[in-house]
Amino acid sequence: MTMDVSRRGLIGAGVGAALLPSVAKAQAMTGKATVGVAVVGLGKLSLNQIIPGFRNCRSARLAAVVSGHPEKAHRIAEEQKLSPRSVYTYADYDRIASDPNIDVVYIVLPNFMHAEYTIRALKAGKHVLCEKPMATTIGDAERMIAAARTANRHLMIAYRCHYEPLNLAGMRLLRSGELGKTRVVSTVMGRQADPSDPSDAWRLDMMKSGGALTDMGIYGVNGARYLLNEEPTEIQAWSQTDKSDPRFRDVVDLYSWQARFPSGAIATGSTSFNYAATMSWEVQSENGKITADPGCFYSGNRLTLGGTKVATPEIREIDQFAREMDWIADVVRGKAPMVSTAEEGLQDMRLMMAIMESAAKGGASVATNYGFRRPVDPAAVVDLPKA
Ligand code: NAD
Repeated sequence: MTMDVSRRGLIGAGVGAALLPSVAKAQAMTGKATVGVAVVGLGKLSLNQIIPGFRNCRSARLAAVVSGHPEKAHRIAEEQKLSPRSVYTYADYDRIASDPNIDVVYIVLPNFMHAEYTIRALKAGKHVLCEKPMATTIGDAERMIAAARTANRHLMIAYRCHYEPLNLAGMRLLRSGELGKTRVVSTVMGRQADPSDPSDAWRLDMMKSGGALTDMGIYGVNGARYLLNEEPTEIQAWSQTDKSDPRFRDVVDLYSWQARFPSGAIATGSTSFNYAATMSWEVQSENGKITADPGCFYSGNRLTLGGTKVATPEIREIDQFAREMDWIADVVRGKAPMVSTAEEGLQDMRLMMAIMESAAKGGASVATNYGFRRPVDPAAVVDLPKA
């Protein structure tokens, strides 16, 4: 069975109605051919995905790098044909305020540093794209939102799956109603953490990261919400940690949770730093089942419907990082609506805290009516790339 998940099919089903939501209040930089992005933090994600991703961008361009390692930063700058003046350290970071070449600052630092560097960029008058999770505390996330409001600048959270074609196709299929009511969404998001890798060392420190839940589980929490396009009212969770494993002296290893949604759908999820690398989701609806396995990898994702690969010419693999950088560039230029809002990031923070709270109370129910409603559905505004 191959379903019509083409843009035309689903726009016809009504999801196109939201194509013109309010473009944010921050002044639109119309007329700029490309938008300059400063990348802050030159770790694994920046070096392997983000900086190479600029070559696939059409609206965003690499404008500067910020790093605590000047030698590495100057090498990257040279490779990327940036002037040495476009290399910043953390100490002289605030100087970006007077660099007209930088429009957007992309925060790719360990989670506990997101709030400080986001707020400093906003105070410098720049728009910000911040990696997930938005922060390590709800207080920090709220301060980031307040700083963006005060500065009248955009703050977008880097939820790359909002721009990933197979996830969009799944969302569109569910919005079309073709499969009937959605009953269950299941997500499995985890991997083996490697403490000898500096990128994982800080992830195994509760204060710096939040562990598997905030690193990997966030894809499942966010995924259940964008697949259902509604917000949970109640969460229950369990956790399991082998304290004899030195990786888990400070962070919980395994969380499993379930969440109840107003439509009657139930989402289940698990996350761990001690299972084989998996980023998958599955939806059980009245008339069909969608499986995305892998569903949230950088590439090689696969969507099946009732076991049959969903293959339409409309679904093509893309560079997710290029697409999300282009998206914020277009938001800044007033050409696209903001999709992955900071409030969306805060909602995930609250829900992850609810999971932690419930698990700490042995699975007690935690009410999650935080009043958030996603203003713009990615399925309604982010196109599937043409084949
Ligand atoms: P990383 O550890 O490889 O890189 C972090 C960088 O920050 C390093 O260059 C490091 O030198 C620098 N740094 C500065 N001060 C530091 C300090 N006090 N402690 C540790 N490092 C410090 O991490 P990463 O994998 O590149 O992740 C960076 C961010 O990107 C995280 O927020 C992570 O959640 C996010 N991320 C997102 C995705 C995605 O698919 N969207 C994937 C991976 C990582």
